[in-house]
Amino acid sequence: MSKSELDQLRDRVDELNLELLRLINERARLVQEIGRVKESQGVYRYDPVRERIMLDKIKEHNDGPFENSTIDHIFKEIFKASLNLQKDDHEKALLVSRKKKKENTIVNVKGELIGDGKQHFVFGPCAVESYEQVATVAKAMKEKGLKLLRGGAYKPRTSPYDFQGLGVEGLKILKRVADEFDMAVISEIVNPADIEMAIDYIDVIQIGARNMQNFELLKAAGAVNKPVLLKRGLAATIEEFINAAEYIMAQGNGQIILCERGIRTYERATRNTLDISAVPILKQETHLPVMVDVTHSTGRRDLLLPAAKAAIAIGADGVMAEVHPEPRVALSDAQQQMNLEQFDHFYNELLASNFVRV
Ligand code: PEP
Ligand code: MN
Repeated sequence: MSKSELDQLRDRVDELNLELLRLINERARLVQEIGRVKESQGVYRYDPVRERIMLDKIKEHNDGPFENSTIDHIFKEIFKASLNLQKDDHEKALLVSRKKKKENTIVNVKGELIGDGKQHFVFGPCAVESYEQVATVAKAMKEKGLKLLRGGAYKPRTSPYDFQGLGVEGLKILKRVADEFDMAVISEIVNPADIEMAIDYIDVIQIGARNMQNFELLKAAGAVNKPVLLKRGLAATIEEFINAAEYIMAQGNGQIILCERGIRTYERATRNTLDISAVPILKQETHLPVMVDVTHSTGRRDLLLPAAKAAIAIGADGVMAEVHPEPRVALSDAQQQMNLEQFDHFYNELLASNFVRV
């Protein structure tokens, strides 16, 4: 029985598919060969001008039925796939990725080894308001053997009329307290031009959620020899977060701590939505330590402890939370900071949970 017309046409399409397959692989092998020649000549591989000339030539010969725009699209994909072949997986991998480095990065902050498998805690007020305020919290921390003190001197606030922080005065207060109590301080810097000045006062540069994609700030923080705590943007995907860290590391500074601090969703029960699964994803995808800020993610005192337990249980290297001697009169985030008694309870409960290792 002879084949139907449809079957014959389909047979021909099958043949052409194989012909195309053979041709694009033959082309790929040639591109690989070109890559090798270029490498031996020390030439950068990607050549957009050459790509444009090739596309123009192809379209000159295009008699349809495909439109030129469709031909453009198809060939650009072929070009891209071939170019990717020229790089091996290791070369394509980001500096912050596990593919590039298998072992965990340990960030040494005055002897606190963040990423060493134990949990590390960062406490302190939202904003530096006075020496007495910071010293009171530092003293309470010191009594618990805690060393990592936070406090904002530059506060990125939603309203320009809200307290903006004490600026350099705030950094000086932090340094004084750190020296007196032998502690390390973490403080947010918002202006790339302030980085050089700030590193004389602080031990960790914090880059806040609102600045996660301030690329000039990331580059400036990457150009100095000082640990950086990078917070996830309010609406940043994990991929964007990882790329923000890459900006820092690409400048030479690999001492980076990632900090999940909640993302904006439709949910209003919490200030932000703590994306707890970001922790193991970041741990898998990167070699950097990961912390969780339970204060800004939940915005609720009653959720600080369960959120911190969840963070630790899921593999976070540390937890950050805000503590203020008198939260009611705090100049920022009055609703969510713990007072000293609540802090005491919070920390004792955490230590009592059997999966915390300090
Ligand atoms: C902070 O930690 O002081 C802060 C402002 O947090 P975020 O940047 O995560 O909002
Ligand atoms: Mn705050």
